[in-house]
Amino acid sequence: MAIGRLRLKPRGYDFPPYRPPSESSSLLLRVTRGCPWNRCTFCSLYKSIPFERRPLEEIFEDIEAARALYRDETRSVFIGDSNSILIKTEDLVRILTVLHQAFPNIERITSYARAKTICKKPPEDLRRLREAGLTRLHVGLETGDAELLGSIHKGSTPEEMVTAGRKAKEAGFEYSLYVLLGIGGEERWEQHARGTAAVLNRIDPHFIRVRTFIPQPGSGLYDAIKAGTFKKASHETILKEQQMLIENLDVTSTYLSDHLSNYIPVNGKLPEDKHCMLDVLDEALTALHDDETLRERFSRKDSLRNL
Ligand code: SF4
Repeated sequence: MAIGRLRLKPRGYDFPPYRPPSESSSLLLRVTRGCPWNRCTFCSLYKSIPFERRPLEEIFEDIEAARALYRDETRSVFIGDSNSILIKTEDLVRILTVLHQAFPNIERITSYARAKTICKKPPEDLRRLREAGLTRLHVGLETGDAELLGSIHKGSTPEEMVTAGRKAKEAGFEYSLYVLLGIGGEERWEQHARGTAAVLNRIDPHFIRVRTFIPQPGSGLYDAIKAGTFKKASHETILKEQQMLIENLDVTSTYLSDHLSNYIPVNGKLPEDKHCMLDVLDEALTALHDDETLRERFSRKDSLRNL
């Protein structure tokens, strides 16, 4: 039985449950489901979704369904879920080719990716994906500090983060790295800021995007906070940490706070906007001492879910 004017199969169109905010206007295409790693202690996103590769026929059916609706207006596509570049390169090249045939006005196709997977891909495979039209990779760095990367079970070392970033840039990708403010907690914020800046400086990604750590039920760190073994960073510490991070950056990246979890918007092109960005943080730190409304606004962020 087919449903609706698009004659969808009963399973319907399948789409990734999470995407970067910058992909809010993109067509969403699910190539895999879940996260093949699923061990990061701050993350609860895919805990209830077993990892699987979707059959190519299903993916092509979804592309066809979307093409019937959005053929001409589709300018960008986001591929989910968390690490679809781990499927066979030849399969992803086929998907990218079909996407470009279906949507003649595509300017950008992006995907989440794990640094470890990028490290394992031969450079020629990365180049094939780039040539087939995958343009941007969104990668979670979280922190550049070796000890913290180990304790949050990120599954990559700082050296692997650097190798992955350089390899992807070398293959021609736009590289978008995510930093998790507050992931060092109240005790390790300085090493987090310094270690993260050091790794970012060695990669010089096109984009640095910050998020703020907000404990999520179902994650290891949420339980650790409840058990008293991890002390969450205060609002003031997170602002100071971000200041230290930016002060230590020596990159040409675009820096964006494009996420609901962040306390204040700090955005700019580095290095030219560095002073303005630091001023924004200075002002927020001063205001935090005197402004009860601001403190309440920050506190409301702490109960956000599904981040
Ligand atoms: S942060 Fe990314 S790699 Fe880690 S468990 Fe969550 S989705 Fe998987």
